[in-house]
Amino acid sequence: MNVLLIGSGGREHALAWKIAQSPQLGKLLCVPGNTGTARHGHNVPFPLHDFDALIDVAQREKIDLVVVGPENPLSEGIADRFNAAGIPVFGPTAAAARIESSKAFAKEIMAEAGVPTAATHVFTTPSAAAEFVRTSGSAWVVKVDGLAQGKGVVVPDTVEETLAAIEQLNHDLPEQALLLEERLIGREVSVLALCDGSRLMVLPPARDHKRVGDGDVGPNTGGMGVIAPVDDVSSGQLEMIIQTCLQPTINTLAARGTPFRGVLYAGLMLTETGPRVLEYNARFGDPETQALLPLIEGDLLEALYGCATGNLQVEKLRRRKGYAVCVVLCAAGYPERPRKGDVIRGVEAVDDDKVIIFHAGTALGPNGLCTAGGRVLGVTGLGSTLRQARERAYECAAGIRFDGKHYRSDIGKEG
Ligand code: ATP
Repeated sequence: MNVLLIGSGGREHALAWKIAQSPQLGKLLCVPGNTGTARHGHNVPFPLHDFDALIDVAQREKIDLVVVGPENPLSEGIADRFNAAGIPVFGPTAAAARIESSKAFAKEIMAEAGVPTAATHVFTTPSAAAEFVRTSGSAWVVKVDGLAQGKGVVVPDTVEETLAAIEQLNHDLPEQALLLEERLIGREVSVLALCDGSRLMVLPPARDHKRVGDGDVGPNTGGMGVIAPVDDVSSGQLEMIIQTCLQPTINTLAARGTPFRGVLYAGLMLTETGPRVLEYNARFGDPETQALLPLIEGDLLEALYGCATGNLQVEKLRRRKGYAVCVVLCAAGYPERPRKGDVIRGVEAVDDDKVIIFHAGTALGPNGLCTAGGRVLGVTGLGSTLRQARERAYECAAGIRFDGKHYRSDIGKEG
């Protein structure tokens, strides 16, 4: 089977690494790919938004399956275009991907499907939202409707902060609907499911760490690390998340004529009254994928193809025993102004059973491997206990050297 993989981050390196283990793989093309994906396939330096050119490449190279990593091409309809060209795609159509690209749409689907979530009010003008806050006399979580790369949500403590957040978000991300949400309390967990339009298969529950500094302080990032599985989600709770959140969502999208084929990613809060969905994403998380794929045994390529063609065989993938801890190593200046061009040493020696190094923002320069983005490498430690996985990840992370390297030291510490 010939595969075209879209994207260029650590997530795509992890996908390429796992897809390359499939006995069914013919050739793997990565658009545009990165230094890591180049180890498992051929990188093709095409711009992601040029769908016509991508379809040309796919037809010329006799591609059997397109796997889409990032959210933007999905919300712009890349899956629709490949589907129309008769090429199966792992990744939802633009209509189904609205579950991520519009928070108001996600809420509408959740309401229709009876999914437990925070109570929400949607406003088309900031003045109407502010009026509602003043009348309510309480603080609300403020969100913009569309994709904002993690910058579209504020969780204020007071009425004044809520009003300031409305103003700020309207200034930074104008002309978007605003959502005011009930604030939920609890621990967060992410549950990702491979979906074929009607069936789904969940991956181990994961927990990401978004803030740049230890103890969850400092600015938000794309993600500084992940642990999986998360022990405070019991198998009973996971089953409940499937039955009350994921499956009804899939069913509702299918009933609307927009079946979801790809990864449905639920960000959940474990509240005192049970799990509630905070948000949905329509693709693999990054760095979540770098911790989750090493915990899967079986042929991922077969499963992705099964999802793309409406024929996922759920029993064929198994969960590997043990834990994964992914620690993201970042460039100097990340997240504000990441520096490029610092030479990286110490990534050579790796034992895949214990630790895997995934490339995100790296490039080959005149002096060898160097930094080329904010999140440079993801180091995933594997172990029979969380502690062992964590120790392996940190031992490896400490041995990798580049100027300005920084990473959190508390990923997986709290369990
Ligand atoms: P991401 O970068 O995770 O994709 P996003 O911009 O899509 O983020 P959400 O996931 O909806 O936004 O919210 C980001 C974070 O804000 C959540 O991980 C959670 O910590 C907090 N948050 C969101 N909604 C609520 C809520 N209703 N109650 C409490 N905290 C919330």
